[in-house]
Amino acid sequence: MRPANFRLLRPASLGAALELLQGSAQRSTVIMAGGQSLLKDLRERKISPQRIVDLALLEELRFIRPTDERIEIGALTTVAELILNERLRHAIPALVNAARTVGDRQIRNRATIGGNLLSGWSSDLGVVACAGRAEVVLISVRGERTVSASSLIADGCVADEIIRTIVFPTSAHSTFEKLSRRHADPSLASAAAFAWSGSDDIGLAIGGAHSHPIRLATVERIIARDGIDSVAVSDALKKAATDLSPPATPHGSAEYRRRIVPIIARRALEALHAGGCA
Ligand SMILES: Cc1cc2nc3c(=O)[nH]c(=O)nc-3n(C[C@H](O)[C@H](O)[C@H](O)COP(=O)(O)OP(=O)(O)OC[C@H]3O[C@@H](n4cnc5c(N)ncnc54)[C@H](O)[C@@H]3O)c2cc1C
Repeated sequence: MRPANFRLLRPASLGAALELLQGSAQRSTVIMAGGQSLLKDLRERKISPQRIVDLALLEELRFIRPTDERIEIGALTTVAELILNERLRHAIPALVNAARTVGDRQIRNRATIGGNLLSGWSSDLGVVACAGRAEVVLISVRGERTVSASSLIADGCVADEIIRTIVFPTSAHSTFEKLSRRHADPSLASAAAFAWSGSDDIGLAIGGAHSHPIRLATVERIIARDGIDSVAVSDALKKAATDLSPPATPHGSAEYRRRIVPIIARRALEALHAGGCA
């Protein structure tokens, strides 16, 4: 199917983009970053906006800035750029390992981290952002606000807001596990686990098994209390899986995804443990 007619707007600065979005109603004006999800939705007429604001020219949203306490990533940083960044590879191995599994080379060259967070059940970077307690800075003509990645992923943002930066607190170690039919396929189930220096806290999130990546806060609390090897953790993972609403796709049924997600989550935790954490 061909998309319905729309006006394509390509602002040259963040300020100009925010002005174009000012007062726009949800669905009548939409943002495009790499277009890897959006173009499919347009072709299938899941959305038929009157205007598309293409952020492609906004180089100011394309950066990776590590400091001692955190790593800031501009929303337009592509998945391929994440993979190539040497410092990121050491600082957040889970993010780089997840990025390596996203689609094929063409998709990785276009897809951005900001767009990936909003791409629903298949978002591998969203799983890492939820587990890593990342925060997201949103900007509009009304100013800036910061939300947790998990709440952005669950609730989305307002139509006139642009994701500007994704901020990861510095972690001691992080792991990512994914099961898919073939290397470039979206996940049947995925999981990320994080540990931080000087803290017993463990971050855990899963993907491919719900409408969007989801942080398993209850399981995290049990791990902090009993350690990852406890029976209580296995029971909590199984319980969490029964509460999910996995997508059914040609790659895997909802029931299959529900059955494998505790196994993939367990693998991510064991890899974290093997790395000297938890
Ligand atoms: C064949 C195929 C295989 C795939 N496999 C995987 C996979 O294995 N793992 C995986 O994680 N993903 C996979 N994907 C999904 C792909 O990674 C996402 O489509 C892509 O990351 C979305 O990013 P984008 O920059 O292209 O966003 P777009 O498609 O441009 O936008 C996606 C959504 O985010 C919004 N948006 C984008 N940027 C911003 C911003 N800065 N501020 C506010 N809103 C914004 C848009 O309005 C839109 O609603 C696959 C996709 C395809 C087509």
